[in-house]
Amino acid sequence: MKRVHSIKDLRDLVSAWQGDGLRVGLVPTMGALHIGHLSLVHHIARHVDRVIVSIFVNPMQFGAHEDLGAYPRTLDADCAQLADLPCDCVYAPPADEMYPAGFKTQVDVNDISVDYEGANRPGHFTGVATVVCKLLLQSRADAAIFGEKDFQQLAVIRRFVQDLDIECDILEGPLVREADGLACSSRNQYLDTRQRRIAGHFNRRLQDLVQAAADGGDLRACEQACAKALLQDGFDKVDYVTIVDPDTLEPRTGALKSDARVVAAARLGTTRLLDTMAIPVAP
Ligand code: AMP
Repeated sequence: MKRVHSIKDLRDLVSAWQGDGLRVGLVPTMGALHIGHLSLVHHIARHVDRVIVSIFVNPMQFGAHEDLGAYPRTLDADCAQLADLPCDCVYAPPADEMYPAGFKTQVDVNDISVDYEGANRPGHFTGVATVVCKLLLQSRADAAIFGEKDFQQLAVIRRFVQDLDIECDILEGPLVREADGLACSSRNQYLDTRQRRIAGHFNRRLQDLVQAAADGGDLRACEQACAKALLQDGFDKVDYVTIVDPDTLEPRTGALKSDARVVAAARLGTTRLLDTMAIPVAP
């Protein structure tokens, strides 16, 4: 497995592979790898011949009061985890390779970026879309994969890739959970023992919501019952629990008429947790 740190070295490697007729896949991450990230590597390896994992803690997607400084940076441990996987290259650019002096351009995706995470983290999706756009153009990858866990992020990325005519297949990796159902996240390590126990309720409360919605419950009432239960479980704040159209992310109301999805974010202390589940209509 190679480690590269510059755009030039990355492009030389990818050009050589593509010159040999090989398809190249990219797994963008911010490192602190867990089994959710590793599943994306296995998943994309079934679709391409060579896999690159990028590791870059992107300052542009963190708000002024967020955890940029504290975000775990564990490059050597990450590379050790990837060594046993179908990963051919780790691309870990320094910040001034990604954002050299004089950098001015941003990728803004309207509408789909505004609610949910966008409302709670102003500027977040501009940072995500800009860095992912750069990573796709730097690598010239044939395919890239993103997790279902960050469902709105996936929608934002699909939108700008289509709008900007970027030739890259965007794949979705299923959400990977810990044993008690908590969605794996690099931020779970911020939780203390009490918070970690409460966090395990998140997934179960969303399962209850999915069941209630599938049973014909009023969707707004299902959301409210779920948010109330999370607060009773000990969450400090529920940022949103919303049942949305899986394509447009528009909120759904009334009773379930076609497949939907719940997106949710809740806080334990200063740690924000995300979760999401599909809500299929009964056959
Ligand atoms: P991050 O390092 O948090 O930016 O995440 C990098 C990629 O891993 C994104 O596409 C995430 O959606 C994905 N990811 C994060 N957590 C999980 C998980 N629990 N299961 C599957 N994919 C995940």
